[in-house]
Amino acid sequence: MDREHVTIAGPVRFEGSYLGDRAKLGASARLECKICWWVYDPAEGDETWQIAPGTAFTALPAYWRCPQCDGDADQFMVLDNVGGP
Ligand SMILES: [Zn+2]
Repeated sequence: MDREHVTIAGPVRFEGSYLGDRAKLGASARLECKICWWVYDPAEGDETWQIAPGTAFTALPAYWRCPQCDGDADQFMVLDNVGGP
């Protein structure tokens, strides 16, 4: 019963859920949908929602959702917080 070695979080790949806290996100931060793994890259924008390349995740409109699974933006996970604190 060595519970201290049980890994709950799995591979340390994410900095954590975004959960709507845009203040912590950098302008070039990439985020990944935790439902379907679709990645939002500010350098590419999002054709589905007609988001222009160069648009930060923090600058996405309130109605924006995952273009692949329609998941809520708050459910995105931070991949790399480029330009963040
Ligand atoms: Zn998704």
